[in-house]
Amino acid sequence: MDVKKIMTSLEAKHPGEVEYLQAVHEVLESIEEVYNQHPEFAKAKIVERIVEPDRIFTFRVDWVDDKGEVQTNIGYRVQFNSAIGPYKGGLRFHKAVNLSMLKFLGFEQTFKNALTTLPMGGAKGGSDFDPTGKSDGEIMRFCHAFMLELWQNIGPDTDVPAGDVGVGAREIGYMYGMYKKLAREYNTGVITGKSINWGGSLIRPEATGYGGLYFVEHMLKKLNRSIVGQRVIVSGFGNVAWGAAQKATQLGAKVVGLSGPDGCVEVPNGMTNEMIYYMLELRASNQNIVEPFAKKFASESKFTAGKKVWIIPCDIALPSAFQNELNGDDAQTLINNGVKLVAEISNMGCTPEAIKAFQDNKIPFAPGKAVNAGGVATSGLEMTQNAIHLSWTSEEVDERLHQIMESIHNACVKYGQEDGYINYVKGANIAGFMKVAIAMKEQGVI
Ligand code: GLU
Repeated sequence: MDVKKIMTSLEAKHPGEVEYLQAVHEVLESIEEVYNQHPEFAKAKIVERIVEPDRIFTFRVDWVDDKGEVQTNIGYRVQFNSAIGPYKGGLRFHKAVNLSMLKFLGFEQTFKNALTTLPMGGAKGGSDFDPTGKSDGEIMRFCHAFMLELWQNIGPDTDVPAGDVGVGAREIGYMYGMYKKLAREYNTGVITGKSINWGGSLIRPEATGYGGLYFVEHMLKKLNRSIVGQRVIVSGFGNVAWGAAQKATQLGAKVVGLSGPDGCVEVPNGMTNEMIYYMLELRASNQNIVEPFAKKFASESKFTAGKKVWIIPCDIALPSAFQNELNGDDAQTLINNGVKLVAEISNMGCTPEAIKAFQDNKIPFAPGKAVNAGGVATSGLEMTQNAIHLSWTSEEVDERLHQIMESIHNACVKYGQEDGYINYVKGANIAGFMKVAIAMKEQGVI
């Protein structure tokens, strides 16, 4: 395989799809050596096929806002790869959503899902709908209109959406309601991240953040270090950051920083349970700003407008919001301030320059597709519970989540050894790729 040649051809075919090309480049770079040891992959043109989605649906979503005005958005579903199971992956509602973003996310999801050990293919979808400032009625009408278009392309054994940025249990509820009405059947396995009242799984809301921290614990264990007393920062205040802050605190770490699009908040003594709970309120307010947090906890925290959370000195940095949220300069700031470990809980949270800076400085760094896989893994467990018409206890789900995160960590270590340093990026990419590539090869040219 010639990575440069493949990238040049992809850039010509998909000009301007920056995030997608970035994600593909990262994977191809890591797998090149292993790929070239398997001539059967080249013969089956695995790499040329694996980088293109199986199919993409795009559709117009029309809805009426509270003022009675008609609004129009674009909806997408990228069914990326189904070699190891039905398409699976979240829906993102954010004003910046475009095809490049969803193709990158679907591509990443394919390998992430392979790492979970569960039989799930990769997909992603969403819309450029901006939930900021929308009323509950507007959210409901948009979700209904979105599902009106999407429903025929999904199903419990074909394609199973879930949440992502801008899509939580409320949106999943509205979307499932419309699906059920159109499909004329009650099959909750068609979507995950549901409310616990009607088919959701215990621990699913917390799973991405919890899983991320279980992964971090394994990274630290490998280094004979403990998480107790470590200063942790998370970016954002959404579902992922919330779960991560909760578990980090439970494990004895101090969460000393969080952020929003408007700035960052330092909490020198670490977040309390009340503060962590308040993150939920902040998110539910739909305003997408973090400053109210600092106002509410004025004596224990400090808000800095317009700055990213990476300026706050810490031992462990956990990107938990959006792709490319931590760049080369941010990485340098963290390194100068003595960061000891970085784990992406967001998808592709770090730019290639940031990753290189951490690796050059031998700072343990793990990528989103390994660290945040606990979310989709627990979605897989939700699908299993739906299929057997049973609900497991939170202990049971948490125990399985633990096992899955440990096995992902082991896979990264197995493939990522580099004299004395574990290259988790390489490890995760090779482990995920091998599983999907072998399945594609075994299923022939289809
Ligand atoms: N959006 C999450 C992710 O990036 C979860 C997907 C799912 O549960 O299907 O993995």
